[in-house]
Amino acid sequence: MEALVLERKNQLSLRDFPVAEAVGPHDVRIALHTVGICGSDVHYYTHGAIGQFVVREPMILGHEASGIITEVGAQVTNLKPGDRVCMEPGIPDPNSKATQLGIYNLDPAVRFWATPPVHGVLRPSVVHPAAFTFKLPPNISFAEGAMVEPLAVGMHAAAKARIKPGDIAVVMGAGPIGMVTALAALAGGCSQIIMTDVQQPKLDLAATLGPIIPVNVAKENLKAVIDGVTDGWGADIVFECSGNERAAAGVFEPLCPGGVVVFVGIPLEPIAYQVSAGQVKEARIEHVFRYAHVYPRALALMGSGKINVKPLITDKFRFSESVAAFDFAVHMPANSVKAQIEL
Ligand SMILES: [Zn+2]
Repeated sequence: MEALVLERKNQLSLRDFPVAEAVGPHDVRIALHTVGICGSDVHYYTHGAIGQFVVREPMILGHEASGIITEVGAQVTNLKPGDRVCMEPGIPDPNSKATQLGIYNLDPAVRFWATPPVHGVLRPSVVHPAAFTFKLPPNISFAEGAMVEPLAVGMHAAAKARIKPGDIAVVMGAGPIGMVTALAALAGGCSQIIMTDVQQPKLDLAATLGPIIPVNVAKENLKAVIDGVTDGWGADIVFECSGNERAAAGVFEPLCPGGVVVFVGIPLEPIAYQVSAGQVKEARIEHVFRYAHVYPRALALMGSGKINVKPLITDKFRFSESVAAFDFAVHMPANSVKAQIEL
């Protein structure tokens, strides 16, 4: 089948690629409709690796996907051909200790689309377990369905924060993950988000998404803004979504005593933070790695209208333009958030 293949670092081609997949009793076959371009896809393209995951042979990219069921396995009862769905891209070993403990995202054997050596889904069809395939609410488009994957990261971060109604949160970084984390935090009960970045167009967009105060940290002082909003007490939650060394080093400054810091952004290099600054506030620290158990909740929030991801989908490409779409994403303009490819 025709697929977008990362041949090696810096070389993409749209070409025929042999994929033979049988539908097992608990699987479904899906015709892909929309696939979002993720920062990780772009990073594999430009660097050939993320940490321990190295591209050693040609790999199909793409993991933020929605589509239509075309075939179901003999034991599948909850899905049928014609159903509009989105898919959770990480498949754990059902018998692993991590899965038994309910932390299946941490299963060392998890097979995650477009993480070497597992192929992604920028191709016409894929076979996937029915258990990781979710029906879209009728009012949710394929484009929105393909946003559930990044939204799931924000949902998981919001769950880790254990938000209480009325909490005030800082979201550092107004990239796609910062945006979806802000949406998830507001849906989860936060009364106000203070969002930081250095790219003004991203902050301007963020300010339209809800009760979000944008702070351009190239020009404004975050601590001063937080002090103004919280009468000097500090924010209940800091979501670090930038992966930026300097931002991450300063997570305790805007935090209130007894607050929580959630590390969401993935720094490419080791970062230092000041433990004593966290100690004097008895800060709780959480880390997130992808997500678990949140797809149905994300879809429910989108279906009910409590979360609207449409403003984040800024750029669309046809499948035939996939290579150009990736070159666009490598140099993403400041006013773009999420680029998607329609098959
Ligand atoms: Zn992604």
